[in-house]
This record gives sequence, C-alpha cells and structure tokens, in this order.
Amino acid sequence: MEFNISIMKGDGIGPEIMKEGIKVLDAIGEKFNHKFNYIEVYAGGCAIDKFGTPLPEETIKRILETDALLFSSVGGPKWENLPHDKKPEAGLLGIRKALNAFANLRPAKAFNELIDASTLKREVVKDIDIIIVRELIGGIYFGKPKGIFNLPNGEKIGINTLSYRKSEIERIVRLAFDIARKRRKKLTSIDKANILESSQLWRDTVNEVSKEYTDVEVNHMYVDNAAMQLVRYPKQFDVIVAGNIFGDILSDEASMLTGSIGMLPSASIGGPVGMFEPVHGSAPDIAGRGIANPIAQIEAAAMMLRYGLNRELEAQTVERAVEFVLEKGYRTPDIMSAGKKQINTQKMGDLIAEAIIRA
Ligand code: NAD
Repeated sequence: MEFNISIMKGDGIGPEIMKEGIKVLDAIGEKFNHKFNYIEVYAGGCAIDKFGTPLPEETIKRILETDALLFSSVGGPKWENLPHDKKPEAGLLGIRKALNAFANLRPAKAFNELIDASTLKREVVKDIDIIIVRELIGGIYFGKPKGIFNLPNGEKIGINTLSYRKSEIERIVRLAFDIARKRRKKLTSIDKANILESSQLWRDTVNEVSKEYTDVEVNHMYVDNAAMQLVRYPKQFDVIVAGNIFGDILSDEASMLTGSIGMLPSASIGGPVGMFEPVHGSAPDIAGRGIANPIAQIEAAAMMLRYGLNRELEAQTVERAVEFVLEKGYRTPDIMSAGKKQINTQKMGDLIAEAIIRA
C-alpha cells in the first residue's frame, strides 16, 4: 500500500530522532511492501527561522492532504523570549487545534528490560500495558464561564466551568471501547460521579454506550482511587478513559511508571488526520550530539501505523523490534546501566530497522 505521511522534524533533537523514525518506517515499507511518501512540513522554531512564523498556513493545508502527521518536538532557548503567540509552542498548539483531535492516547507499557529505571518496585510494574484515552478539547480547560472576576464586595473570584455535552462524552467513550476491543477488552472509566454532575452524565453515558460493546468488560473508578490504584496495582488496567483534566493528571502519573521520558509516545486522534509524537520536548541540552534516545519517536511511528494507518501487524513489528534490541543490551546514554552496551542515536535506529527486516 502507499501512504502519504507529513513529517515535522522540529527543533533541538527533533531532526536527529526523526531520521531514525523514518529509517524504521522505511524498514517496515521494505518488509511489508508499503511505500511511504514523506511530505516535510514546518512548525515551531525551524518555521520561525525559515518563514517568520511558528505555523505557516501552508503547513496545515499540506497536513490535511496526507494520511497522518509524524511530529517530533519543538522549542528551545533561541526562541524563548518571543511573545507567546510567536513562540515555537504556539505552532504545536495551532496544529493540534486545526486537526480537531478530540482524543489523546498515551500508552504506559513496561519494557521489562528497563524496569529498574522505574521508581516503583519491579513486581508492581513488570508487564504493565495500559493505554490512557484522554478527552482533549472539552471539559474544564475549555468550559465557560471562565476568568477572574470581581465580586460586589471587591474580592476577586477565579472561575472555571466543568461541562460535558453528552455527544462529547459519547464520541470519546466509543473510541475508547473500540481500542479496548482490539486489546484485552477491559475498559476503566474515570469520574467523580459521587460529587460532580458532569461526571454523573459521563458515567450514565458510559453505561449506555457499553450496551453496544457487550464483549468489553467495563468498570467505573473515582479519579482519586484511580490515582492510588495506578501506583498500587497498575496491572489491573487495560484501557482507561477519562475527561480532559482527570486524563491529563493520570496520564502523566502512568507514564512515569515505566521510567525514561525518551521512551514514551503519544497520539492525538479523532479529527481528519492523526498526529503522532514523542511525549518529551526538543531536549536542547543534548541536541546535535547524537546521543538522544530515538525510541519515543520510533514508538510514535508505531502508534501512527496502528491508529493512523490501521496497520496493526506493522505496529507490533516495530514494537517487538524495539524490545528485541533492548533485550540484546543496547542502550542510549539516558537508559544506560551497568553491563549494557552504550550506543548513539543513529545506531539505535539502525539496530531497530535491522531487527524489523530480520523479523
Ligand atoms: P524535554 O523533554 O525537552 O527535556 C527534559 C529532559 O529530558 C532533558 O534533560 C533532556 O535532555 C531529556 N530528554 C528528553 N528527551 C530525550 C531523549 N529522546 N533522549 C534522551 N534524553 C531526553 O523538556 P524541557 O527541557 O522542559 O523542554 C525543552 C524544550 O522543549 C522547551 O522549549 C519546551 O517548551 C519544549 N517542549 C516541546 C514539547 C513538544 O514539542 N511536544 C513538549 C515538551 C517540551
């Protein structure tokens, strides 16, 4: 098959790790007889330098003509003193908004080889494989009224509004059920229905939608309990679905179960074109030295194959190749430990690509 992929190399370590992401996609292309056409788009600091704006109009137009967007990361000290709307990060937010992605997916998967990098005990994090589906464009971050107002007595009051329309809940819950169906068929819905009306509607809607997914086991959990259960016994979770603020907090908590930030991908989907990126930033402190860990970028490419292009086998092949190379003891400096073999960014990409071809 033939796929058109928007490529955003970004700033800092972005171009270095994207090179390895593309290398891995090319290996998948060779193995499975696909052709990936790469269309380079610009956003962030590199776009400021080239076009004088963090998000050229052309960028969105081109992305919308492709099947998926593979993004690296943007930002760095060079552009830090620009006004907010001219900063590289404004480009990233602009893309997210233009793509209208209502779901953010963040896996928390243990690489058994790296378990000792976790702050939790080995037996707690071993074999965990969770995906958090967070609602991204609704809830308290967007609800109105919002602002800081003056009360009649002159005191200030800060207001945010947590509201969810039923249709907004339905679409994210359905997407989470669809993902659960392709995995271990277990969905945990997070709310605070004992206190919040918006959560009561969330819970009622989950129960209603669950009637269409009788093959998926559903349970409800209050957000405070979920925060505790994630560090107590994370293996109980398969897919977690949550509103914007609860998902924001829980996905950060879950991502740290597994150790290094250089390993974690995320996806924003639900709109016309999905966006796939590492969780980490542009790491300007190590840029240009060839030592960045490309695995988050490579895992983002795997997520793109799975959720953006619907190629499950290809996604699994990438993930298994990463595990294989880690099992063989190869490490970039950020995940290095005694007795392992330290390699650079490019070598990590080479070895993963080779493992794909040989698989
Ligand atoms: P960061 O994630 O870039 O770096 C944090 C630390 O983790 C650094 O020590 C860095 O060297 C290390 N690190 C990150 N990725 C790594 C990798 N792949 N391999 C090895 N080590 C890695 O966060 P920061 O330093 O707070 O931010 C740097 C810049 O990135 C800022 O301009 C920030 O705004 C931007 N940023 C962008 C995104 C994005 O594009 N999605 C996300 C977060 C931060």
